[in-house]
Amino acid sequence: MSTGAGTPARARVQFIGSGDAFGSGGRFQTCILFDADGRRILIDCGASSLVAMRALGIDPNSVDLIVLTHLHGDHCAGVPFLLLDAMAGARRKRPLRVVGPAGSVVHLQQLFGLLWPGSGGLRPRFDYRCDELPLAQASELDGVLVTPYAALHTPETSPTMVRVAFGGKVVAYSGDTEWSENIVRVADGADLLICECSAYERPLRTHMNYRTWQMHRARVNARAVVLTHMDGDMLAKAGEVPERCASDGLVIEL
Ligand SMILES: [Zn+2]
Ligand SMILES: [Zn+2]
Repeated sequence: MSTGAGTPARARVQFIGSGDAFGSGGRFQTCILFDADGRRILIDCGASSLVAMRALGIDPNSVDLIVLTHLHGDHCAGVPFLLLDAMAGARRKRPLRVVGPAGSVVHLQQLFGLLWPGSGGLRPRFDYRCDELPLAQASELDGVLVTPYAALHTPETSPTMVRVAFGGKVVAYSGDTEWSENIVRVADGADLLICECSAYERPLRTHMNYRTWQMHRARVNARAVVLTHMDGDMLAKAGEVPERCASDGLVIEL
């Protein structure tokens, strides 16, 4: 398998879930598939993600790596559902790796126990690893380079934005965050920046609104931008703003 040099046969991003935590617009919670060079990487895995994958005909067992930005349920609570399916339903054989910010290992263990009481005897029969990644440095995971940067969001969630490089392509994702200079860093030279835009003009703590994005967007050096994680007000404006806005199932060829 190629580790990133040369032109990939196929590199694309698909929004499995483009919604916020509140189900705005009837959308599934955050889950982004980065598919390149025969490898499938999920960026975030909200509580609804297993259902959303089935709705799109995406086999959960085809995912090799899950990269989590932070510990809110609309970004990570799908992992216990995928794990239960892999262990008890689909009888997965291929390895699965999950990486996330500080606290991810214990948080996911606790989530699994809370969501599936009585599952204590279940053990993966596949190679399963969960690791916490250091901030602001690239970690190499079987040829995939993942660099998390600190985000401005609920501190208890260890919030990060992530830059994922694989198959000669770079996908940057803001996670949940207020505007931060780290968005400029994470997006620099990326093929795609996926940026949260939780509201249109309503002021928000711990999230971005479109007015704030508009003030800063000229400084973002990414080849393409897609806005996601939109509330009802922002969804109502999605057809009027120049940026592309995500929807469930949207595919972006890189
Ligand atoms: Zn969120
Ligand atoms: Zn959040």
